[in-house]
Amino acid sequence: MIDLLIGYYEQKIKIGREEVRDAPESLKNATYRKKVSPYIQALRTLRVQQGLAVCRANAECDEPAIVSCAAGKHEACKTHAKGDCAACESEQSGPPVSTAP
Ligand SMILES: [Zn+2]
Ligand SMILES: [Zn+2]
Repeated sequence: MIDLLIGYYEQKIKIGREEVRDAPESLKNATYRKKVSPYIQALRTLRVQQGLAVCRANAECDEPAIVSCAAGKHEACKTHAKGDCAACESEQSGPPVSTAP
């Protein structure tokens, strides 16, 4: 059941991304927000509910997290592990974190 749902969302994301790709430049953002983003969020929520790791380095990422972010603090997918980590950035701009080792 869960696998079916995950497969369904993944399919929706794939189709949505194709629609974004084919959309006129001025509509790409709107199309993404409507056709891709909601399914990514649903997929992430579903994975979390299943106790599976989601990529926290990028809030719009639907890849399974199998490694850590560059700082080694958050779950990340292979792609985003090497780049900037959104979770790290939001921690830095959020309340001060203890720097004690
Ligand atoms: Zn990712
Ligand atoms: Zn991080």
